[in-house]
Amino acid sequence: MQPIGILGGTFDPLHYGHLRPALEVCEQLGLDHVRLIPSRVPVHRPQPVATLEQRVEWLQQVAEEVPQMVVDLREVERESPSWMVVTLESLKVSFPKRPLCLILGMDAFLKIESWHRWEALLQLAHLVVTHRPGSLLPDEGGVAELIAARQTNQVTDLYRLPQQQGGRILLLPVTQLEISATAIREMVAQGEDPRFLLPDTIRRSVINQYPLEEE
Ligand code: ATP
Repeated sequence: MQPIGILGGTFDPLHYGHLRPALEVCEQLGLDHVRLIPSRVPVHRPQPVATLEQRVEWLQQVAEEVPQMVVDLREVERESPSWMVVTLESLKVSFPKRPLCLILGMDAFLKIESWHRWEALLQLAHLVVTHRPGSLLPDEGGVAELIAARQTNQVTDLYRLPQQQGGRILLLPVTQLEISATAIREMVAQGEDPRFLLPDTIRRSVINQYPLEEE
């Protein structure tokens, strides 16, 4: 059974730094598809600026044209905070026979020990950590120990259910795109055009979603 990829995020807004790595992970690992999961009430970070409806619409508009991507609204439909561990538990019920691969940019992975019930994540899913400009793996500390204990370079390890042997961690180089949603919001607030940093189909509505800063 091919694994399913999971990419959670605030997508405030969605940009090519989300989409290109997700597609490359899907193709390099032979995943069945990648589920893009927008958070409703993000934890561990400030609340999004764009509305929930708008963030979902951007994802749907773009994913409609990409057969490898599916928008999954389970965090949006849940009242409780968007804890990833709860999301993975619910995905395991939906897809009991498929291994789950949680895709994280390096910046997100470096903070994994602060996530709610983080150790349980590795009983539910494998982690696929993509390189991201500006974030490097540490040589020591909890994250380095986690890598030492769990790392694999074998894609076939991800085809086993993580609950049988504990989740594995695969570090994957992807095309490096130094794009962040924060930088896009700041550009738009200063009246600059984020063209070519995100899909053109959503660009106009992204520009309208972030207020111009007053002089
Ligand atoms: P913000 O700047 O608002 O914090 P962001 O651009 O980091 O947002 P998120 O929605 O928080 O985007 O990120 C969701 C996931 O996508 C995280 O795992 C993050 O590491 C990953 N990601 C975001 N941008 C990139 C990028 N340029 N390259 C690789 N991974 C990325």
